Amino acid sequence: MPFISPKVLCRRLGLRPKKSLGQHFLLHPDQARRIVAALELRGSETVVEIGAGLGALTVFLAQTAAQVIALEMDAQLAQGLRSEVLAEAANVKVITQDVLDFDFLGLSRSLGQPLAVIGNLPYQITSPLLFKLIAEKPAISRMVFMVQQEVGQRLLAGPGNKDYGILSVLLQYHTRMARLFTLGPNNFYPPPKVDSLVLRLHPDGAALRADDHAFLAQVVKLAFSQRRKTLKNTLAAQAAELGSTPEQVMTTLEQLAIDPRRRAETLSVDDFVRLSNALKPVREPG
Ligand code: SAM
Repeated sequence: MPFISPKVLCRRLGLRPKKSLGQHFLLHPDQARRIVAALELRGSETVVEIGAGLGALTVFLAQTAAQVIALEMDAQLAQGLRSEVLAEAANVKVITQDVLDFDFLGLSRSLGQPLAVIGNLPYQITSPLLFKLIAEKPAISRMVFMVQQEVGQRLLAGPGNKDYGILSVLLQYHTRMARLFTLGPNNFYPPPKVDSLVLRLHPDGAALRADDHAFLAQVVKLAFSQRRKTLKNTLAAQAAELGSTPEQVMTTLEQLAIDPRRRAETLSVDDFVRLSNALKPVREPG
């Protein structure tokens, strides 16, 4: 089951890459091998691949994993992948499905083990997909993703950085991320406009834990809802959305020594956790 160039496969299958599905296929087997190696697979594991495309990663995953579940939303591609690339791979199951509807928790439960997850991600769904994966993180042992450089910067940004926002706080809270390497546009067919970044994520995350993850997400989203405004004008002014009052939010900020004139972008992940834990009892008295 060799790596076949995506240009050759597209020609053979009479396909044209679809921009609307973020179809940029990896051209070089060495890069594909490097991305798969970053997942550090053990032979007994099941791996879920997101957006298998023409199988650049899949062929190498099939060599190292016990089982590969390859998700591909484009039915034509999925069919081409089955017939032209993976015909002899008994341990790969290609499923034509939108990953946003995939039940990671259900699969992990039925296998009795957490899943390794990998993908050269379609850029249009990166944020909703990452939020889905953190919601289902008990199903996952680790993830290796290629994302657009700009998204990678948002994920890794710290307080005070212009890229620091909801995605940074929630992903840094829920996972431990490592930036691995970048790939330029000429590694893909067709070439995208921007560089790509490969990251590894472990779903353990920050040491300071929130009492209620959904409430933490609500606090973070409200605080960043108007980036230029102060916490007084976001969290306190819209306290009702947190089941609280402006006075209660102002008192909590004071108790935590967080100046209400600060903006959300200056708060650390731990600040958000402390704030969410302190506001929660106010929301649910008794
Ligand atoms: N893994 C291949 C590679 O590295 O060459 C293809 C990567 S390409 C950037 C992203 C792939 O995700 C495309 O094949 C696209 O059709 C697929 N895709 C896009 N949206 C999807 C979705 N919601 N669910 C599953 N696959 C999707």
